Amino acid sequence: MQTTRSVSVVVSGTVVLTRACREACAYCGFRRDDDPLVPLGRLGDLFSPMTKGRATEVVLTAGQTPAERPHVLMALARDKCTSFGEYLHQACRMALEHGLLPVVQVGLLTPLELKTLAPVAASVRIPVFAAPLDGEGQAHATARGRLALTGRELIEKAHQAGMPYHLDFLIGIGESPEDRARMAREIGAFCAADPWLQDVRAVPFQPVPGTPFRARPPLPFDEVRAVIVELARAFPVHALSVPIHLFARYPELVGAGLNDLGSTPVVTGDPVMPTFPVPGLELVKSRLVEVAGALHERLPLTTPAAMNRPALAEGLTRARERLQARAASGLALLDNRKCFVCGDHNPDGLRIAFQRHDANTCTATWVAGATFQGYAGIVHGGLLSTLLDEAMAHSLNGAGLQVVTADLRVRFLRPVPVGLPLTVTGTRTGNRQRIHFARGTVTGPDGVLLAEAEGRFAEC
Ligand code: SF4
Repeated sequence: MQTTRSVSVVVSGTVVLTRACREACAYCGFRRDDDPLVPLGRLGDLFSPMTKGRATEVVLTAGQTPAERPHVLMALARDKCTSFGEYLHQACRMALEHGLLPVVQVGLLTPLELKTLAPVAASVRIPVFAAPLDGEGQAHATARGRLALTGRELIEKAHQAGMPYHLDFLIGIGESPEDRARMAREIGAFCAADPWLQDVRAVPFQPVPGTPFRARPPLPFDEVRAVIVELARAFPVHALSVPIHLFARYPELVGAGLNDLGSTPVVTGDPVMPTFPVPGLELVKSRLVEVAGALHERLPLTTPAAMNRPALAEGLTRARERLQARAASGLALLDNRKCFVCGDHNPDGLRIAFQRHDANTCTATWVAGATFQGYAGIVHGGLLSTLLDEAMAHSLNGAGLQVVTADLRVRFLRPVPVGLPLTVTGTRTGNRQRIHFARGTVTGPDGVLLAEAEGRFAEC
């Protein structure tokens, strides 16, 4: 009998605070010298879709020590912050207010920054390298600051500050297989028993166009597998992951000891590696079936030391509620902004923006082009049904409900010509326990009713 292997995942979103960075790693496609710092006042707009998309964490990412750039310094002054650490502190606080657990991923942090962040950040990601690689033409030849604090020193500092951390083992950037194995053993012996260590990730190099390492080949599968085996030995009780795009290609890593997908930016996509689309969780589940694996969601924090911090209590409660609701629904209902009708991240979708009018009603205006016709010059009835369904679901979403359509009854009252502005309205009309009712209408520019619908929606 084959045993099912459990693989965990953290549903996440990512916010790039700035791509400005004082280093220039040869493999990096993220860094951009003059990239502005996101004003603190804008973060709420970036966090809200993640809350709506039911992420439990937000990864706040930036280049390393960006405050050495004058434009970042000026932006910090604009936000009345005396340091980048203070800015990160404020950003974490705002994330918690939105019910998101903030994970800070900004390269190496100073002890002072760790101390500033310890009360409000859920955790920090610590990059570790197997070798200095600072010689001519090597990965860190123009990134000497990448080595000012080695991963081990930063781990010590995080421990002293009482700051939970995740380890990112960057591999395939020029170190030898022996370097990698030694690194896994040494760091494992050093901190595998540390209550502040949350999980471990292997991050294999991927060539990025436009970087000095663009023509360097990625690690072959066998070498990635060997690292996973070493890390699984070195960290026997920890969640061990690779980035999601790699997992989708190599689910067989589960047999080598991989038991986690870690932080997975399903809600926003991965702005650090945009050339690798983030697969949906349903696809991941289907790949896992091939290796007798089953997916379950977890929180970004895994140890009692990390969770028992007063400032995080409310954020953790809200994240747990989200996680439990999703588990109870049995469906991975995530809004990754790629909905065919309303998703602003779906290049092939309709991208219709619904406006909320009151607690129960929303509308959108849309012109159907000739490609949406059924009979000549007349909008296809299936498309009208889609619009009505969407409008009704939005009227319920706006009331804070997450629903799926249970049934839909549409009446087509008049032919709807293509090329005219149509108004689609959804109105919540009531509920019976967890079944919610709504009405939808499509009207022409003269206000004439063209189609209407009633729907029942199941709350998830
Ligand atoms: S420190 Fe990070 S952001 Fe900066 S160049 Fe290196 S990998 Fe890129």
